Amino acid sequence: METGRFAPTPSGRLHLGNIFCALLAWASVKSQGGRILLRIEDLDLERSPRAIADQLESDLQWLGLTFDEGGSSGGPHQPYYQSERFELYEGIFHQVAKAAEIYPCFCSRASLHAASAPHFSDGRVLYPGTCYGLPPEAVQERKKHRLPACRVHVPDKTISFTDGIQGDVSAYLPRDCGDFVIRRADGIFAYQLAVVVDDGLMGVNQVVRGRDLLESTPIQIWLFETLGVPVPEFYHIPLLLDPKGNRLSKRDAALDLSALRGRFLPEDIIGLLAFLAGQIPKWEKITLTELAGMFQWEKVPKDDVFLPESIYG
Ligand code: GLU
Repeated sequence: METGRFAPTPSGRLHLGNIFCALLAWASVKSQGGRILLRIEDLDLERSPRAIADQLESDLQWLGLTFDEGGSSGGPHQPYYQSERFELYEGIFHQVAKAAEIYPCFCSRASLHAASAPHFSDGRVLYPGTCYGLPPEAVQERKKHRLPACRVHVPDKTISFTDGIQGDVSAYLPRDCGDFVIRRADGIFAYQLAVVVDDGLMGVNQVVRGRDLLESTPIQIWLFETLGVPVPEFYHIPLLLDPKGNRLSKRDAALDLSALRGRFLPEDIIGLLAFLAGQIPKWEKITLTELAGMFQWEKVPKDDVFLPESIYG
């Protein structure tokens, strides 16, 4: 059975871009008679407190988006809060450490940024390998001054896959992804590990998410393969742009759900997003059931889509 998920990081109020992702993930599995779960990606509880996660669930409820399992309702794969799954990550971390090379890294974000230009869309740089192969004495010496993060040394390998929207993708891990952090210096496991562990354990076989995460996918596929877990299908959806062509940001308060709930009905928002996803010819009210009945991936555009001015009220 198709099993999808919506996996938001609750670091602010849900905005239109998050809802676009939730809606397409939901409509895709529902149009195929599948299941969808809600996973709260609150690895960093300081930035993602439970109150924001609760607000997020209440916004999803207002939209009428219901989940077969997950969130505060729980289910067969609970807990669905990543902050409560550390022991699972710890176990799999040791499994990865047996299968791959993991090394301590003392580099600060600032020093990496000072040395190289950003390579990834979230501003990260491609890791230049500074701490790879440090002799044990040097590691001991540095540990006196700074706790290290753990990085995985990626193998000399090319990962190829076909994305349901973006088409054929091929990445040579050392050049396109680089050695990646699997555990932060403060002990928190990185997104790359947690997402693979959870999608694997929760039986997710369809991943729908923003195009900005496409660059993480080769690493995740490599982790799935290393752990011997089946690789899901991927659909990296276009991003929403404001009428000037800027990516939506969490700071754009006019487009978060607290503002939108005051101006629109759920069917208006679902209709707008269904229109932007190429499912209906113009922006008009539509229900979730109607959307699930007509949903087709072939109609979803590959390029980013512009929001109409009228959304701002
Ligand atoms: N938690 C991530 C986010 O909110 C999404 C992760 C994923 O879908 O793989 O950006």
